[in-house]
Amino acid sequence: MQFSEIPGLEELKNQLISAHKRGKVAHAQLFAGRPGTAVLPMALGYASYLMCENKQEADSCGSCPNCVRIKKLVHPDIHLHFPKISANESKYDKVIAEAIPRFREFVIETPFGDLESWTRKYGQENKNLLISREDSRQMLKNVSMRSVEGGYKILLIWVPELMNPSSANAILKILEEPPEKTLYLLVSYNYDNLLATITSRTQLVNVPPNTFEEVKAYLESKEVEPAKAEQVSKLSEGKIGLALHLAEAGESQEYEDFQKWMVECWKKNLVGLVQRSEEFSKSGKAAQKNTLNFAIALVRNAVIHVSGQKPPVQSEAEGTFIGNFSDKLGLEKLEKVYALINESLIHLERNSNPRITHLNLSLDIIRALNG
Ligand SMILES: [Zn+2]
Repeated sequence: MQFSEIPGLEELKNQLISAHKRGKVAHAQLFAGRPGTAVLPMALGYASYLMCENKQEADSCGSCPNCVRIKKLVHPDIHLHFPKISANESKYDKVIAEAIPRFREFVIETPFGDLESWTRKYGQENKNLLISREDSRQMLKNVSMRSVEGGYKILLIWVPELMNPSSANAILKILEEPPEKTLYLLVSYNYDNLLATITSRTQLVNVPPNTFEEVKAYLESKEVEPAKAEQVSKLSEGKIGLALHLAEAGESQEYEDFQKWMVECWKKNLVGLVQRSEEFSKSGKAAQKNTLNFAIALVRNAVIHVSGQKPPVQSEAEGTFIGNFSDKLGLEKLEKVYALINESLIHLERNSNPRITHLNLSLDIIRALNG
């Protein structure tokens, strides 16, 4: 990953580069931002820059042996630590051997991916992933070894907030007193959940979301068609990972599903709604947020229609649906439904029970529609 592969955020890139040029590279840095933003890409771009043998003015070269190996995440001096299923000492090697290739693939394919997309890729959706005590032993080992190439040695710890307290405590000392040329890059989506003893030993690198234009241009560069790129970028709040996910998820089925849901609410079909909430709860966290994000977008489009403007739609059928839906409900009810879905999304992000959240939402929508 090079800086040039990350859209925008030039100020931050410049800060990182200039700290290196001034010889002020902090040995423990905490890259922090929202899931789906460029937090991990930024840390990887930075690692490439630091290790590059042929640094350019504002980026790594992308083609020297170090850059090439970092791109494939196989550089012997970059040690990856990330949440995985827990394992005791005897099974640890096996767990690592299985997890590492998948993790590399995950990062290379979806550098903007979040913990949920990793859990899916890893095939462990029903397990609690963590950075275990055994991982922290591994980190201590990494640190005690000399760097293979004689340059920097980097420990990249992805989602350190999932370190259990004993493994977090185990690495405090190495965080504080690292051997020369050893760097810790922590990549966090919720650093409030990190132990204060960890955060106080790191320098915060705040990675902000991208702008709407940057997300849209990025999607178009990945061959998402412009109308769709525009629509999902609006939904994404500057999170490229979310925008890509929404673009891939496909639109038409989402709107048909939403339509069925609204009909169920309209007709007070409780059996259907209970079943819908069951299915919703089984669909995985990312898919759940997706469903609600799409619903919000559709209702927003209906509001645009009420205002007499033409909403951005993917197909004629969807346009017809939005027209009918907004005519039937009118502005006041649409606004209520919009607020309700939004509220449920926030609850979900705070880890509410998805089945109950969805069913409550349906019941609230029944009241809003029939009120
Ligand atoms: Zn290079």
